[in-house]
Amino acid sequence: MRLLVTGGAGYIGSHMVKLLGDKAYETLTVDNLSEGNPWAVLHGELRVVDLLNYKALEEVFLEFKPDAVIHFAAKVKVPESVKKPLLYYENNLLGTVNLLHAMQRSGTRYLVFSSTAAVYGIPENIPVKEEDPTNPINPYGWSKLFAERVIKDFSYASGLKYVILRYFNVAGADPEGKIGQVSKEPTHLILRAVKVATGQIPYMEVFGKDYPTHDGTGVRDYVHVVDLCEAHLKALDYLREGGKSDVFNVGYGRGYSVLEVIQKVKEVSGKDFEVRYAPRREGDPPALVADSGKAVKVLKWEPKYDDLGFIVKTALNWEIQSSKVSCYNIV
Ligand code: UDP
Repeated sequence: MRLLVTGGAGYIGSHMVKLLGDKAYETLTVDNLSEGNPWAVLHGELRVVDLLNYKALEEVFLEFKPDAVIHFAAKVKVPESVKKPLLYYENNLLGTVNLLHAMQRSGTRYLVFSSTAAVYGIPENIPVKEEDPTNPINPYGWSKLFAERVIKDFSYASGLKYVILRYFNVAGADPEGKIGQVSKEPTHLILRAVKVATGQIPYMEVFGKDYPTHDGTGVRDYVHVVDLCEAHLKALDYLREGGKSDVFNVGYGRGYSVLEVIQKVKEVSGKDFEVRYAPRREGDPPALVADSGKAVKVLKWEPKYDDLGFIVKTALNWEIQSSKVSCYNIV
């Protein structure tokens, strides 16, 4: 099976490409390298192409003729999306429209799409089910929800088969330590916390302590990046076996507060670091926890790393290793 992976040089995409390589899939990575790194693509070829450059994208599709696409390429930071909504609509929505055009031109039949729990906004029920109402509270969530809609409409019109995976909070790194999360301006909780623990950021900030959660701080469902990638493999198998187009949550069904995550990072790293309280961050819901029963049942997803300690350990190992060669000055 020939697989084209958009965003395959980025954090989640590079773990996916590695896993696909381990399983002997033929892959081609398309990435504009805005966040990704060429060294992170451990398998197959990398083409530096922006999804917004339709001509270049179409050329790659007509040459490679993929059977399926896994579409990661996107802007993914909630705070940035609040400040720069057009950047999000351009990349996440128009980028997806271009991708679907190119897929149609090359006759690509299957799509696995990276969506997000941010489409639920402030959920009415915790854990959240796929059929629960979607009502994003930030431009990032809206850009992904609109992209979902476009994929569904296009599938109806064209016969394209898709699986939409709504990721909860993805964290951790390759257990072999070959790749991990790299960000020029890290915003994600676990990434920032391991950077504080390794002395690259002076202190940790907790955004909001008056949320309606057990300790007042934001609650999220952290899923290990390799388990998430395994869900994509299962989605591909499902589509190839004739499964119907559908949407699935991917998380462990367990929420941890910001304070619990920080405590775990202190424990695993053996470092006690400064923690300061700061105001709530715009666009943040109080709690997001997945009901992933459908992915387990229908896709036969079998997560292996449902352990916050292991997630933190792999993230920390990667940080220790990569910061030795890092050229970023984090302030
Ligand atoms: N958060 C925090 N300090 C940080 C980064 C994040 O308190 O330095 C909180 C954030 O407000 C949210 C949770 O941690 O409640 C997860 O945020 P993250 O950016 O990792 O993921 P998101 O849920 O926004 O996609």
